[in-house]
Amino acid sequence: MADRFTSRSGALLAVAALVVLIGWMFDIGPLKSVGVGWRVSVPGAAFSLGCIGLALWRQRSPATARRSHFLGFQFAVIAAILPAATLLEYLLGERWGVENWIGFDFRDQAGLAGRMSPLTAGSLLTLATGTAASAMPAHLRSSVPAVGAITALATSWFAMVFVTFDPSRLADEPRFPGMAAPTILLVALGSYALLDRQVVAGGGVRRAAAWRRATLAAFALPIAAGWARTAIESSPGVDASVPTSVAALLLCGGAAVLAWRTAVRMWMLESERERAIDVLERRVLERTEALAAANRELADANRRKDEFLATVAHELRNPLAPIRNAVHLLELANPASADRRAPLPIIRRQVEHMVRLIDDLLDVSRITTGRFRLQLERVRLDGVIGRAIEMTQPHFTQSRQRLDVVLGDAPIWLSGDPARLTQVFANLLHNASKYAGAPGLVEIRATTSLDHVDVAVRDYGVGIDPAVLPRIFDAFAQGTQHGRADDGLGLGLSLVRGIANLHGGAAWASSDGVPGQGSTFYVRLPLPAALEPVVDATDGESREAPRAAS
Ligand code: ADP
Repeated sequence: MADRFTSRSGALLAVAALVVLIGWMFDIGPLKSVGVGWRVSVPGAAFSLGCIGLALWRQRSPATARRSHFLGFQFAVIAAILPAATLLEYLLGERWGVENWIGFDFRDQAGLAGRMSPLTAGSLLTLATGTAASAMPAHLRSSVPAVGAITALATSWFAMVFVTFDPSRLADEPRFPGMAAPTILLVALGSYALLDRQVVAGGGVRRAAAWRRATLAAFALPIAAGWARTAIESSPGVDASVPTSVAALLLCGGAAVLAWRTAVRMWMLESERERAIDVLERRVLERTEALAAANRELADANRRKDEFLATVAHELRNPLAPIRNAVHLLELANPASADRRAPLPIIRRQVEHMVRLIDDLLDVSRITTGRFRLQLERVRLDGVIGRAIEMTQPHFTQSRQRLDVVLGDAPIWLSGDPARLTQVFANLLHNASKYAGAPGLVEIRATTSLDHVDVAVRDYGVGIDPAVLPRIFDAFAQGTQHGRADDGLGLGLSLVRGIANLHGGAAWASSDGVPGQGSTFYVRLPLPAALEPVVDATDGESREAPRAAS
């Protein structure tokens, strides 16, 4: 809303300047001068004001495109050229004919269109500099435009006040000393627009509105006082001191009312702001409380879900043991007819599958409830990996996949639960085989460093979408479904990470999600600082383990 003010003021300024320039070009009296000999503006000042107007119009809001801002910046720089050169002329006591630089012959009857006064040139230069800076980097944007606009406003306001107390110049002189009245108003309009944009860019839309009202009144006051003074002076028989006193009274009284009103307005804005902050803080507090309550409810529901899963897993596991035994007995009985023997391997396979699923479910719920216990002992890494390979070998054979194992020559000793570590690598190898494609390649390699060993299981299969990668180790997490009959429950990786963490290690994965490049799963396990004689998990023999460097 307030930015519209900036762009409209800019456009108005540009149009007003164009009208004045047309007046000068075609010698149209009313456009270049008002009344008897008053100049609206000299051509140089009109040109600069026009450029400032275009710059403000182009820049309007901080959000408009950068190209538009750059164009605005260029207009502002062009606007600065004539006032800067004029000021130099005054300073050096030279006369370069700056007023004719814009390329038209602006001479009037007197032979010269007149150059800007030093006051006009100063106002326009600060205004142009401020407008240019408002399209520049943030640190310049914050202060230079405001300083430029306020200087231009103050200069033109003082010019107005001086005129108010010098009536001869108000009516008779061809133009005001310093600035022509319309030029003053146009400079003021440009300054408001620039300030307005500044304040709005700083976030204070209402502050901008207060500014506008205050400055408008500040310019109306001297005009009213000056008018009152000439009016009283022209009435016959009035004491010479009266008009000056009236003007001074009007100005002072008006300024006092203005200051008072602005102070009240500012105070109201401040208390409104404080009230708004209070309301906001209360709302934030209420929302935080509501979120905390929702969080508690969610945690509660999650705990109940974990308990429910643990109970279900328990209840499902109980009937499985007798079923398994019954199948075993039936197998021992070895029924004579092939029809009766045929279902037994199917029942056994399905029961084993159910047992695995339910065991995984029980393990996950034990890990989440902190009831999972490790049976720690000294184990060799190649031992546990060897067992995991044995367990998963049928999958590799069936899918005609090659498994490359690189574990290094020196045995790596760990303190761990051999069964659980085997479970970790078996899960990873099983997954790798599942997603590597047939035929395919899977690699498992170990890399030791000073205090830990990293085991990487890599396949060159479908890979994992990077979007689901961060959650892939969560319980029940599934990657992209490939419609496989053996897509599981999403518990395997959760167990991998849970068991690795319980060993003081970690597990993570990497994949670009590109089919054919596959994925790599890492398990990091700490190396014990010094190793005692240990029992090898693979063959149960007692061996002297090498001492790790500490
Ligand atoms: P599940 O028992 O369902 O396989 P996991 O926890 O082992 O459960 O795996 C979770 C998901 O991770 C799988 O559904 C699969 O989408 C993805 N995943 C695991 N390993 C691989 C792999 N090597 N390549 C591609 N995706 C994998």
